[in-house]
Amino acid sequence: MAQIIDGKAMARALTERTADEVRQIVAETGTPPGLAVVLVGNDPASEVYVGRKIAQCRKAGIVSFEHRMPATTAEGELHALIDQLNADPAVHGILVQLPLPAGIDAARVLDRISPLKDVDGFHPVNVGRLSTGTGGLVPCTPLGIMMLLDSVIDDYRGLNAVVIGKSNIVGKPVSMLLLEREATVTVTHIETRDLPDVARKADIIVAAAGAPQLVRGYWVKPGAVVIDVGITRVTDHDGSSKIVGDCATHELEHARAVTPVPGGVGPMTIACLLANTVRAARIASASSNA
Ligand code: NAD
Repeated sequence: MAQIIDGKAMARALTERTADEVRQIVAETGTPPGLAVVLVGNDPASEVYVGRKIAQCRKAGIVSFEHRMPATTAEGELHALIDQLNADPAVHGILVQLPLPAGIDAARVLDRISPLKDVDGFHPVNVGRLSTGTGGLVPCTPLGIMMLLDSVIDDYRGLNAVVIGKSNIVGKPVSMLLLEREATVTVTHIETRDLPDVARKADIIVAAAGAPQLVRGYWVKPGAVVIDVGITRVTDHDGSSKIVGDCATHELEHARAVTPVPGGVGPMTIACLLANTVRAARIASASSNA
């Protein structure tokens, strides 16, 4: 029977540690870490994600600054807000909720965020730092994935890791983190030939394709660790809807450990956002004391 890695419990523990650090920062500097959350337009899923992030900030003692802008916002106005947040000493982290409405160039907006406040880790400076192994802020989902893996793997050296999906948000950065640990990493995608055969050689599978139940039992070798990043809402026969991951988890009894969906990677992503905000606050206070 595969071990179920409890992402909810791990996220709760991480948020408690973050709250402790927040208290310490307040005691040392008098200022709590602050996270600015920018939401442009009214995409319902984004509303839910932003609401969750703000609620979790509150739990950890992080101050959140919510900036809501209409879908008709001009890119220049968004740039002006980012400039203002970059200059605001009470704001240690800036998060622009994606996707942005059509007509706004997301890459240009993300490039404008100060790399020191880029708690999503999407700025080219942080991407470069990750790929050269020289620090920087690491994207939240990959950071959470590594913590989940760390709960069952001590030594990654020489392990075969297969990452399914090559997005900038998950696939590429998690591949860099696995490579940093000296795993042998294969990054796969929609054009990969004979993916089941590639996956079968893996000691670690990170499935981030957004393809419901793509990873079947016969794709997974006995004893492999499987991290399911996928989140897809599907409608059941009775009309009710539910969230499913990228793995047919019920076929993975022979795996060593798997993450559930929901309750695996998702909660860790938000907990890592809080941890990154605290890290950014530490960086800011170290540079102001230097
Ligand atoms: P994306 O759409 O940007 O990229 C998907 C990648 O998967 C692409 O590289 C594509 O080539 C590959 N792919 C798609 N279908 C495939 C298939 N059938 N076989 C092989 N490769 C395939 O996706 P993303 O933003 O990285 O997100 C991936 C999934 O992870 C989505 O379901 C998303 O909702 C979820 N996600 C979850 C969290 C979380 O916190 N749990 C965070 C980010 C993304």
